[in-house]
Amino acid sequence: MGLIVQKFGGTSVGSAEKIRNVAKRVIQEKERGNEVVVVVSAMGKTTDELVKLAGEVTTNPSKREIDMLLTTGEQVTISLLTMALQHLGHDAVSFTGWQAGIQTEGVHGNARILDIDSARVLAEIEKGKVVVVAGFQGVSESGEITTLGRGGSDTTAVALAAALKADKCDIYTDVTGVFTTDPRCVKNARKLDCISYDEMLELANLGAGVLHPRAVEFAKNYQIPLEVRSSMEMESGTIIEEEANMEDNLVVRGIAFENQITRVAVLGLPQSLTSLPTIFMKLAENHINVDIIIQSNTNENTTDLSFSIKTQDLNSTLAVLEENKDQLHFDTVKHESELAKVSIVGSGMVSNPGVAAQMFEALSQEEISIKMVSTSEIKVSTVIDEKNMVKAVETLHDTFELAGRPVKS
Ligand code: ASP
Ligand code: MG
Repeated sequence: MGLIVQKFGGTSVGSAEKIRNVAKRVIQEKERGNEVVVVVSAMGKTTDELVKLAGEVTTNPSKREIDMLLTTGEQVTISLLTMALQHLGHDAVSFTGWQAGIQTEGVHGNARILDIDSARVLAEIEKGKVVVVAGFQGVSESGEITTLGRGGSDTTAVALAAALKADKCDIYTDVTGVFTTDPRCVKNARKLDCISYDEMLELANLGAGVLHPRAVEFAKNYQIPLEVRSSMEMESGTIIEEEANMEDNLVVRGIAFENQITRVAVLGLPQSLTSLPTIFMKLAENHINVDIIIQSNTNENTTDLSFSIKTQDLNSTLAVLEENKDQLHFDTVKHESELAKVSIVGSGMVSNPGVAAQMFEALSQEEISIKMVSTSEIKVSTVIDEKNMVKAVETLHDTFELAGRPVKS
């Protein structure tokens, strides 16, 4: 007998009928002799609708009240699912984040989980009940309701699994697992049997929406095996664990992509020790996430700097630079939008030189020019024109044989 945490995302609980289906999946797990804790998201597009509703009341809602509003979404689902379980004759109880002991930082909208006091959940499990916990929410030290950032229910599930020392955490969603790339974009994208935490973390951070990056981080830190699988189909999903076998010795495991990227170039900065720290400190203070950074010295004792950001942060970035112009002494700022980032990820890269070269070659064959590059041990990211994004992903998917190797005759 084991303890399993099951998480069901918004689409899996999108209607009363789907909630009844989820109740059946929970009961199946229970009938296999396991203890079950369930974490759920808000139904369907509820969170988006609540955000929109707030926007109809004010253009500048306070973050505290947004959290108060958004956490109601998950509260609807926990009660309905618990009722569905009770209706089927199973003992169950629902808990909000604070009732489940999920303590977070006092940051509204993007709080990190600091600790979980699992006593209450454990006591109910011991009574033989299924415990249904609201995802995406917690409570700060000062008693304020917080949320964990969009998609944060995954993190609730994995953090609870860690706190409860669960044997496994299953993430149920509307796809059958983690794919080599988004199957909505590349038709022959293939479901992976397994993937390592590190690869999954890169993919999640680089735009693959299937899992919340922080959930993967938690899973890795506490070595919780995850499985991403479908709530509608019975087939097994993708296992995420420390060491994942590389099928067929492929070097690349997956391709992630993200549009709405902007490149900002700050030209003619003085070549001084303080230019770079000052500029990035100011951006960080204004919560602007900078991604790829390229610096090059010119002949005139100045430095040109370019970096990529999300396009939504462009206006605030330009404002920060303008406000600090006197201190930074740069000449001009230029920017280019409608860019995309396409990244290949695979732990096989560590021991295979030439992967980046192969990527650049494939893109150049398609006459796709690369504007920025960044690498880590297990990934290569390129920034290209947004209009070339899908073509680039398809090309790389073929180049690295992600749909499977052609059968040799
Ligand atoms: N309901 C929240 C969202 O839509 C949290 C989640 O689904 O994980 O972002
Ligand atoms: Mg999600």
